[in-house]
Amino acid sequence: MEDVKIYVIGAGISGLVAAKTLSENGYHPVIIEATAGPGGRVKTDREGGSAFDHGFQVLLTAYPQAQKHLDYSELELRRFKPGAMIFENGNSCRIGDPLRDLSSLLPTLKAPVGSWSDKWKIFRLSSQLKKKSIEEIFESDEKTTLQYLKDFGFSDEIIRQFFRPFFTGIFLEGELRTSSRMFEFTFKMFSEGAAAIPAMGIGDISLQLASQAKQCSFRYMESVEQITRDHLVLAHGDPLPYDGIISTIPLNPKNGKPDLGQVQWKRCDNLYFTTKSQAIPHGVIGLVADESALVNNLYYNFSQCKSGAWLLSVTVVGNHGLDTATLEQRVREELQQHCGIEAIDLVRHYPIEKALPDLENLQYHWNADHNRILERVFTAGDYRVNGSLNAAMASGEAAALALMQQLG
Ligand SMILES: Cc1cc2nc3c(=O)[nH]c(=O)nc-3n(C[C@H](O)[C@H](O)[C@H](O)COP(=O)(O)OP(=O)(O)OC[C@H]3O[C@@H](n4cnc5c(N)ncnc54)[C@H](O)[C@@H]3O)c2cc1C
Repeated sequence: MEDVKIYVIGAGISGLVAAKTLSENGYHPVIIEATAGPGGRVKTDREGGSAFDHGFQVLLTAYPQAQKHLDYSELELRRFKPGAMIFENGNSCRIGDPLRDLSSLLPTLKAPVGSWSDKWKIFRLSSQLKKKSIEEIFESDEKTTLQYLKDFGFSDEIIRQFFRPFFTGIFLEGELRTSSRMFEFTFKMFSEGAAAIPAMGIGDISLQLASQAKQCSFRYMESVEQITRDHLVLAHGDPLPYDGIISTIPLNPKNGKPDLGQVQWKRCDNLYFTTKSQAIPHGVIGLVADESALVNNLYYNFSQCKSGAWLLSVTVVGNHGLDTATLEQRVREELQQHCGIEAIDLVRHYPIEKALPDLENLQYHWNADHNRILERVFTAGDYRVNGSLNAAMASGEAAALALMQQLG
């Protein structure tokens, strides 16, 4: 099996799980990655004890694939409290899930967000989705999340104050046009587990997966240019003959060349500021409810700044067309206006152009027939299923199993 030449293109989460699965089954895959390290969209920079994730993202601990592939205790997960702190024009209130965090019962009931009936419906939705299987969710008819919430009977007020800001940060679009399948799936995952980040940043998930792909070798800073019937063509060097390939980047099925234009992407910016004081408790996500605001969400990073200052992560969703200096100024003003937070220094800014694939007809299961572009070449990646860590892992594993079956 050591002599079977299998290449995995891309060391993102899907490529790492594909390599891990192949490795666990005795193969010795080679991962070819265009950048200098593993992780793809799940990376963290570290400096002076602080961890800067490339974009705010959370692991939902209830993800079935994450439970299967990750060792949570080794990741030292820091869990967010359910719900969020809602900010608007200097006022704030807390809305939580009292079933999981009893201390949020009174604040949630007293919060001037939505009506009592809305709060009751949130609990009803949560218990309904706990009973609905993931398969049933992805077999349901699709509608926009906004339509789904209206059909469920939620008031315009709770949609505007809670659901819109909360799910804008997850779907990375502010109109809630994302499929109701994704809404139900995500809501179910939030209800059944916690949103968490490893103590030293989300990138630890990638590093753990890379360390689990024991028989795998990594070739960084090498870019794939084409896959032909017999060879893998790199930007530099001789073409490589292969027995099997899993590509986690979009390829043109006609010529086997990378085709990034095949997928529409949603973007966001992640800015890190130091602040003198802490305006939200650790482990609570802040949301700005004002629809015209650039700032969507904020939270205090679990790691600390060397200087002892607080490190605030702020996410701006969508296309704003502003240069960094103007964006920074606008974000500072909004933090002061809505949250009463005085930002000191902007320490990092990550503009992320290709954050989440903009997909329709979302699927849960990866399908071998739809993802084979040549006899021994399969495509994987979140963009083939749905934009989540769970989907990236599921597609990587399923593609590895399909390739092994193909190889007999
Ligand atoms: C800001 C942000 C927030 C998110 N929030 C969440 C969240 O809260 N929860 C959640 O579950 N998911 C979230 N996600 C989605 C999640 O991160 C992705 O679904 C997942 O990381 C996708 O992994 P992937 O392997 O499919 O793709 P990628 O990570 O994109 O991996 C593809 C890899 O291929 C490499 N590559 C590209 N071209 C070539 C080439 N020609 N040759 C060789 N290598 C190449 C790239 O460098 C990259 O490493 C978020 C993502 C972002 C960016």
